[in-house]
Amino acid sequence: MDVKYVPTTCPYCGTGCGFNLVVKDGKAVGVAPWHRNPVNDGKLCPKGNYAYEFIHSEDRLTKPLIRKGDQFVEASWDEAYDLISKTFKKYKPEEMACLSSARVSNEENYLMQKFARAVLKTPNVDHCARLCHASTVVGLAGAFGSGAMTQSIADIAQAKTILIIGSNTFEQHPLIGRRVMQAKMNGAKIIYADPRLTATGKQADLYLPFYSGADVAILNGFMQQIIKNGWENKEFIEKRTKDFDKLKAVVMQDKYSLANVSKISGIPEKDLATAAEWIGKSSANAILYSMGITQHTTGVDNVKSVANIQMLTGNLGRPGTGVCALRGQNNVQGACDMGALPNVYSGYQAVIVPENKKKMTDAWGCELAEGKVGYTVTDLINVLADKPGTVKCLYIMGENPMLSDPDLHHVEKGLKNLEFLVVQDIFLSETAELANVVLPAACFAEKDGTQTSTERRVQKWRKAVNPPGEAKADWQIISELAAKMGFAKQFPYKSAEEIFTEVAKVTPSYGGMTYARLEKPEALHWPCPTAEHPGTPILHKEKFAHPDGLGVFTPLEWKPAAEVPDKEYPLILTTGRCIWQWHTGTMTRRSESLEREVPTGWVEINPDDAAALGITDGEMVKAKTRRGEIEITAKVTDGIKKGETFIPFHYAECAANILTNNALDPVAKIPEYKACAIRIEKLGGA
Ligand code: SF4
Repeated sequence: MDVKYVPTTCPYCGTGCGFNLVVKDGKAVGVAPWHRNPVNDGKLCPKGNYAYEFIHSEDRLTKPLIRKGDQFVEASWDEAYDLISKTFKKYKPEEMACLSSARVSNEENYLMQKFARAVLKTPNVDHCARLCHASTVVGLAGAFGSGAMTQSIADIAQAKTILIIGSNTFEQHPLIGRRVMQAKMNGAKIIYADPRLTATGKQADLYLPFYSGADVAILNGFMQQIIKNGWENKEFIEKRTKDFDKLKAVVMQDKYSLANVSKISGIPEKDLATAAEWIGKSSANAILYSMGITQHTTGVDNVKSVANIQMLTGNLGRPGTGVCALRGQNNVQGACDMGALPNVYSGYQAVIVPENKKKMTDAWGCELAEGKVGYTVTDLINVLADKPGTVKCLYIMGENPMLSDPDLHHVEKGLKNLEFLVVQDIFLSETAELANVVLPAACFAEKDGTQTSTERRVQKWRKAVNPPGEAKADWQIISELAAKMGFAKQFPYKSAEEIFTEVAKVTPSYGGMTYARLEKPEALHWPCPTAEHPGTPILHKEKFAHPDGLGVFTPLEWKPAAEVPDKEYPLILTTGRCIWQWHTGTMTRRSESLEREVPTGWVEINPDDAAALGITDGEMVKAKTRRGEIEITAKVTDGIKKGETFIPFHYAECAANILTNNALDPVAKIPEYKACAIRIEKLGGA
């Protein structure tokens, strides 16, 4: 019997836990603890424990598929590459776009943006970070000069208080939740602000249930109390920040008094006061947030508000402090770092700066796309749906906008307006079903590569098994397609390591990293600019990343959500995930152990709202917004605030994103998944 243990990194959330894939006779048959991995010390959540189950699913794509009428026909790689390269060559750069992926490796994201810019010469490349943490990238870059989580995960255990706002950490990042519990066991006080009393909230010392969209008002209210009571860190403000007076002028207004913030948010005044006092007097306060903060039309404002309160109290650059933006997917941080964004090359080097374009032109040895900012995913979908013929050709790697994007009817209309759609994935997703050509890709267990977790730790995947049938690694597919299109010299790679070496050469924050250095279990945190540099678990210790080294306060007024409840749609809808499933379910719904735990969706509704509508627990109901309607099971629970409802977005049969609003944050272009107006009806109701 041939059994081996291959250390690798979890393909699900951004925590970046390590485990051993157990391989028997060439098949992944289990997961075993990797005790020396410092992220999770051998522990895993259910998704990590069962991360091997989808690998050998019989639904895996094994051959290229070409659409003939309503059918897909199996094809050889040569036939598929021929068709794609001939078709791509027909279009002008501005008529094409590429979507990269937060699920694939750094090397593959780097190649996808290189393919877009060097081969197709289009500036239109983006990925789903746009849908989850675009506001973090913009907001934290504005405040600190760097758009990433400031701390290491292990640091959280050293906090004395922790504010968790807009993150169900214990279900979505369970091994980060473990660090929160370690802090609590060391005496830290946990404050939890969210419309739902989730598993995370149940462990909190203070629970603040609030109406979705009130974040800036709440944080301004905290800051007013902190300043009024003299709890701000005057030395930190003076030496390390600027524009404090502008912030003060806004937050000290009467509209952010306890009484007014209580009215806006629904949180009792005394609880707001207690939270402000705990944060204000804490010697080490960490803030954890996720998509409850970012997925709003005010997403950037929300993130900047979090930065404001941490600068006000001097809670940055030390263990147990910081802004912990918990990134969702395994490699959403890395996909951003690699430049799979319409405005930057890898390492956040702006495409509009001529020196950066010249640097990449020299490094890649060919002409590149014009140095202008391309379409974001969200703008792209709008253009496809509303201005047919503007973009005609789309190449998607490892994304499923037909379930993940807001207002799905609108998305479908846009994708159906395309003349040519190529989808590269491991399963025939809802999006792949609309493609002209489908390319079968290898999953995380079937290739080498790196991914970058939420704490900026760059970790390795190690190939454990072969891909099924003729499936290939995404980096191999992109390289072969580029060669077919005449760019063999620019895409000469024989291994993922060769690509990583190029990444390190052109990306200052990864400059000192090599596969050999990443081999050790602790890997490396960026920035790691030189071969001798030890990596940087904590950012902003002495100064911020702006040229003058100062953090920037931004005065922010609270603005309501784009769509608020009214007579017709009287409740608020917020969306999210559950511990057993992952995003659009392409992997978890093919994992028997995970799928059987929570096999379909539900809508949570408060008992008072349910009683008013005559709805009982477990009843099928209609959930309806201005964009569409679904039928779904009602879960009547006092774990959700009166006036709010919640639907998980994993399930195609009751897709929450048919209902969500695609109103965008004006700067980050992230949609407002977390708040729109909804009506719940009994089936057969008016
Ligand atoms: Fe994987 Fe995240 Fe669970 Fe860790 S916490 S095992 S990275 S899903």
